[in-house]
Amino acid sequence: MRDLCVAVIGAGMAGIASVIKLREAGFDDVTVFEKAHDVGGTWRENTYPGIACDVPSHLYSYSFAPNADWTHTFSPGNEIWAYFESVARCEGVHERTRFDDEVVSLDYEGGRWTLATASGYRDVFDVVIAATGVLHHPNLPDLPGLGSFAGAAFHSARWDHHVPIDGRRIGVIGTGSSAVQITGALVDRAAHLDLFQRTPQWIMPVDNVPYDEAQRRAFRDDPALMRRARDGLGRAFADHFANAVTDADSPAMAAIEEACRAHLETVADPVLREKLRPDYRAACKRLVASGEFYDAIQAPNASVVTERIERIEAAGVRTVDGELHELDVLVLATGFRSDRFLRPIRVRGRDDICLDDVWAERPSAHVALVVPGFPNLFLLNGPNGPVGNFSLIDVAELQLDYTIQLLDVLRDGAEAVEPTVEAAEAFEVARVEATKGTVWVTGCRSWYLDDRGIPAAWPWSIDHFRDVMRTPDLTQYKVSSGASDGTGDDA
Ligand code: NAP
Repeated sequence: MRDLCVAVIGAGMAGIASVIKLREAGFDDVTVFEKAHDVGGTWRENTYPGIACDVPSHLYSYSFAPNADWTHTFSPGNEIWAYFESVARCEGVHERTRFDDEVVSLDYEGGRWTLATASGYRDVFDVVIAATGVLHHPNLPDLPGLGSFAGAAFHSARWDHHVPIDGRRIGVIGTGSSAVQITGALVDRAAHLDLFQRTPQWIMPVDNVPYDEAQRRAFRDDPALMRRARDGLGRAFADHFANAVTDADSPAMAAIEEACRAHLETVADPVLREKLRPDYRAACKRLVASGEFYDAIQAPNASVVTERIERIEAAGVRTVDGELHELDVLVLATGFRSDRFLRPIRVRGRDDICLDDVWAERPSAHVALVVPGFPNLFLLNGPNGPVGNFSLIDVAELQLDYTIQLLDVLRDGAEAVEPTVEAAEAFEVARVEATKGTVWVTGCRSWYLDDRGIPAAWPWSIDHFRDVMRTPDLTQYKVSSGASDGTGDDA
């Protein structure tokens, strides 16, 4: 048995889980690198009004850290951040983390990774686990004149809490989950709210029921009750959403569409209703869930602007019909660069292979976790994973259980483990074929689609993902016993 020295990049949800699961499996030499000042990842960064998670809170929790105190079915973002912070603190994650230091490069040689940070720190690790998140780099719209806006303009993930909101004229660009939550939270506070809609979205109605103290006490007193609640939510979420979207013709998918159509009918004004009606199938884009949005957008001080934006001016947004929408605050709820996995970290793998070159067309990873040519490197929630239609916590936990089994191969003496090119190619061929049955290819533009218009996500059921993650198939891996080129004994 050899001791392994592990670097984890990112102290968000997946990075915190990594420390805990690695320690449970007996891997104690773990250092976390976090470029920000605190843990929490996306929940530290996204603080916009109305932020919540549309995966039920008892499901959007670590399996090993249930939380009896969730206040709502879909608890708000600050509560979610506090949950991660407290799990990390209890589990000693902070003590293992180098904060405020960004990893800039990873270089593989002779079975080890040299990791360098922006501050000049360098060290060598046997294993690197990238927990760098998926929806991390804001997608800033290329709108002419954006810099000339005289009011405050910021991306939804960079909310400026110094900017007053109450009684101001607010513009929100976008109609994704972030924009819908922001609209619901701000319309009562704004003098006027303009929602700039390039594409309407189907909205799944959800009821955000609070848990009262008696329910929270019952969960606290009976962990088995909480476990059953979590399992029930997990099964329902898989059957009625996560698996449904991977089979466009399924009855569950038809039920989602019907629920969205009926929800849209609750919009009283027929003109507004038609403005909000998408011309593609529900869940083709990542489904938006909200019980508040239609009420909010029907408020007398709210407008949906469907004319295309021509340019941004000092006073507001000029649309192509010539109208100037005067604003004090402009929120860019324009999404994320979901293809920027790991980057801008420069990663040089075996035989000087650069990840930027391998991913020049688009990122991809065998079983959404590992890449040929990059031994002992694991990408949690990596490319081609079940992103958007499942709890990323479950995905990270399943991937960690799988990763730890590969680390056991290293602990038992192997120098390096990486997927074979053949296995990765076969996976990608099967994956692309399976995307043809998903609702994501039924005729819409979305961040699921890659440069070819093929969904980049996991196209099979979540149950299949669980099966694949149960045990690594070592025939799909090259296990090197010490040859520095990583092409030693095949397992
Ligand atoms: P998004 O779903 O990618 O939506 C971006 C919006 O901005 C779209 O409506 C898009 O229009 C619009 N847009 C982008 N560039 C534009 C431009 N140049 N001009 C006009 N409109 C433009 O982003 P998001 O709402 O931040 O959500 C991203 C993902 O984060 C979600 O899909 C979800 O997975 C996750 N999320 C989850 C939660 C949660 O509750 N769990 C909450 C927020 C976000 P088009 O549709 O026309 O492209």
